[in-house]
Amino acid sequence: MSTVTPIVIVGGGAGGLELAAKLGRKYGPSQVYLVDKDADHIWKPSLHEVAAGTLDIHREGLSYFMLARDCNFTFILGALEQLDKEKKEIQLAPAYNEAGQVLFPRRTIAYGTLVVAVGSKSNFFNTPGAAEHAITLDATQQAEHFRLKLLHALTQQQGDASTANQVEPLHIAIVGGGATGVELAAELTEAVASLHFYGANTLTPERHLAITLIEGAERILVALPEELSVRATQLLTSRKIKVCTGVRVTEVQENQLIDQHGTTYQADLCVWAAGIQAPSFLTTLGLETNRIHQLVVNERLETADPHIYAMGDCAQAPWWGEQGNLPARAQVAHQQASYLVKVLSAKMRGKPMTTPFQYKDYGSLVAVGHSKGVGSLMGVLSGKSWFVEGLVARIMYMSLHLMHHAAVLGVVRTFSLALGRLLLKRSAPRIKLH
Ligand SMILES: Cc1cc2nc3c(=O)[nH]c(=O)nc-3n(C[C@H](O)[C@H](O)[C@H](O)COP(=O)(O)OP(=O)(O)OC[C@H]3O[C@@H](n4cnc5c(N)ncnc54)[C@H](O)[C@@H]3O)c2cc1C
Repeated sequence: MSTVTPIVIVGGGAGGLELAAKLGRKYGPSQVYLVDKDADHIWKPSLHEVAAGTLDIHREGLSYFMLARDCNFTFILGALEQLDKEKKEIQLAPAYNEAGQVLFPRRTIAYGTLVVAVGSKSNFFNTPGAAEHAITLDATQQAEHFRLKLLHALTQQQGDASTANQVEPLHIAIVGGGATGVELAAELTEAVASLHFYGANTLTPERHLAITLIEGAERILVALPEELSVRATQLLTSRKIKVCTGVRVTEVQENQLIDQHGTTYQADLCVWAAGIQAPSFLTTLGLETNRIHQLVVNERLETADPHIYAMGDCAQAPWWGEQGNLPARAQVAHQQASYLVKVLSAKMRGKPMTTPFQYKDYGSLVAVGHSKGVGSLMGVLSGKSWFVEGLVARIMYMSLHLMHHAAVLGVVRTFSLALGRLLLKRSAPRIKLH
């Protein structure tokens, strides 16, 4: 590694990876470092598909080492642990392989500018039993863990179904009726219906799967207009998904949930998708954090230390021109990455940029399952409510993901990758069976 103090970006997710790729192409590997605790990148909004088995993580993940070579930045595997603001150094925890052997020891890395982009994880709001019994979709490992548990439980069901007339359905409770919960519920019914093709021909979502979607607010998808909440509820209910609103889960037990009134909900599997918080280690770095551990930044995404920026889900950034703070969304992280490319480039030229970050909300789309093998999407785009079905819906949904790839890999490689994946999908089962 060179003696130049580089821009060090910690966290190669929706925002950090795009920033590293764009800066890497401009300034090269001696000046741009990306640090991540994992060796592979996954587009986090796909994790509900990984959990349902409709997306194979081994085909979807992109190696950071490969991306570093392609995009011209230096990749360092390790988790940020400590920060020394005086010395402008970060310390990374040792990295281990699957057998628990040390791959890289504890390391210290000097930075000229530091960008913290470590994302968020689920917030259990101190609900007793949630951390022990609920599964989250925070990372690939958890999504895979859920997929395997689901597959095992369904395999057992298939065995029982062939020997008994009356089989108790598999109860899945999803806590949180936001986009993640709704998309997961819809995707799970699709996935179980697909199992029918691969030998589990006595298994049907209607008889063998009982999904309950639990939301604390009075309606699901509270961030979207009410008419879309109503439409989504109708669609989910038509797929035999039970939607419970105004229900606050107060305890999670091994096979059930309890709400504020003491009512119980069966839950052989429980997924928690009810809110986020930034990683708690951020509160130990000596920078200002908020109630949910996010680093507090100004309208230029700077912390109180002018050499340290934060972006994406781990940052509390003011929504310029609006009231309140920016939402934790991939779209925000994506736009912040483009903004920081300009800010950091100006800084390198010695001409600091003072324009604030202005978020343009293009709206959001929620996939509410497939009909006839394609899809239904709803949401708000450019200020208008949308409900789209069919191939157009599928293409619009995929385009969000492809835009991220295009920012990292460029348009030509994204096109080749998308084509390759499409062809592979044609030759593989609709859901991952192993
Ligand atoms: C199932 C699901 C569906 C979603 N769907 C949508 C959607 O449809 N639209 C939308 O706009 N948003 C969606 N989101 C939210 C979206 O994924 C996030 O807002 C977005 O990924 C935030 O980007 P980020 O760069 O801040 O963090 P992330 O993308 O989470 O990336 C954080 C990175 O930091 C790394 N990291 C964490 N800790 C450390 C550490 N200590 N040291 C080094 N590296 C570390 C992680 O490995 C990760 O690579 C969804 C989220 C989920 C879970």
